[in-house]
Amino acid sequence: MISIPKGTKDVTPDQSYKWHYIENVLRGVAGDYCINEIRTPTFEHTELFARGVGDTTDIVNKEMYTFEDKGGRSMTLKPEGTAGVARSYIENSLASCPQPVKMYYMTPVFRYERPQAGRLREHHQFGIEVYGSASPQADIEVISIARAVFKRLGIGNLTLNINSIGCPECRKKYNAALQAYLSSHIADMCDTCKDRLNKNPLRILDCKEKRCKEITIGAPVILDYLCDDCKAHHDAVCKGLEDIGIDYKVNPNIVRGLDYYTRTVFEFVSETIGAQGTVCGGGRYDNLVADVGGKSTPAVGFGMGIERLILTMESIGAPVGEPYAPEAFVVDMGGETLSAAAVLTEEMRSNNIAAERDISGRSVKAQLKYASKINARYALIIGQDELRDGNITVKTMSTGESATIARGDIVKFIKEAKQ
Ligand code: ATP
Ligand code: MG
Repeated sequence: MISIPKGTKDVTPDQSYKWHYIENVLRGVAGDYCINEIRTPTFEHTELFARGVGDTTDIVNKEMYTFEDKGGRSMTLKPEGTAGVARSYIENSLASCPQPVKMYYMTPVFRYERPQAGRLREHHQFGIEVYGSASPQADIEVISIARAVFKRLGIGNLTLNINSIGCPECRKKYNAALQAYLSSHIADMCDTCKDRLNKNPLRILDCKEKRCKEITIGAPVILDYLCDDCKAHHDAVCKGLEDIGIDYKVNPNIVRGLDYYTRTVFEFVSETIGAQGTVCGGGRYDNLVADVGGKSTPAVGFGMGIERLILTMESIGAPVGEPYAPEAFVVDMGGETLSAAAVLTEEMRSNNIAAERDISGRSVKAQLKYASKINARYALIIGQDELRDGNITVKTMSTGESATIARGDIVKFIKEAKQ
């Protein structure tokens, strides 16, 4: 047997209803914020991610699914959702639309990571992108969307961690201070962080290794190095969150794993799904559009992991929807009654009633057993007598009660029962 690739998952028909439930909520929230969807290709030129996400990040260095296509071009499966949107914003001249342009995406994301609970090689993200506003109000709006999603999904147990990593100017000073501090601890750091020390010291704050985490406890804090503008922006974001009742924790160790962030960075973390607890991560990326070749455009957004949303909801027992089950299962007894059952089933469906009938040649007893197994609400039995008299025997599956309803009234009867 050929098995599924490591770190990927099937969504089987008995599970897919959870995805539909969540996707509907996500699209509904986007609608309430007047946000339309953007769809970009599953693969892009590798260079887009090297320039956008940054070639000192783990994602670009170690985790990309890169291949050469038959034309000899280097292509990469999306390792995140934002770079493709930035490319599209430039390529489709979205800068000429009324600003800011707000968009959402739902997309598979591919990263060659070590698979574990909450960490896959193909996962799915819902993301928000807001281009063309440098105001802290845009940051607040984006965070408020994430909160609306969690609220509507019944997830009340997430902590919002927020930080500012400043602009390239303040970061230069901070990096120097951080490097000076970390240099004296180099012997105790993991090999990856030793390498990061000169290339991208900020990333060390994001290291998941225990020994590196311990070292960073005493490190200088970026908030102390912000320039006046970045500080004012950060304060305004915090105040705006308070205005609309969003609780947050300022956490100077939140730096995010992608190079494109400037100023605000944030994460919503769940305590109930284990070590991979970050359900949503985002922030501001004012230099990204310019980095990938466009006109300088401020932007802010987030990515939310749908698998981790499901894990969180299941961990707290939040409702995750229900699979389709028939309102009516039409039981036949062969011959003419089979034709009558086929006609009635079609009629039900064209009246928006979820209906099923036997398509496997089962006996009446087996049909009723099957109807019960698939959680049908009613069995509509058409035997010779019913056919002759123009009736249907309606059996309520949960109670076993039966009633006789005229064939002409049956659709109305089921419709009314449905409400
Ligand atoms: P983490 O710190 O957990 O590795 P990240 O910083 O790499 O996350 P982002 O790149 O910001 O995450 O992606 C946004 C969201 O996508 C994460 O908050 C998480 O919910 C989800 N996510 C990221 N990587 C994976 C993965 N390998 N498997 C499942 N979900 C993921
Ligand atoms: Mg990661």
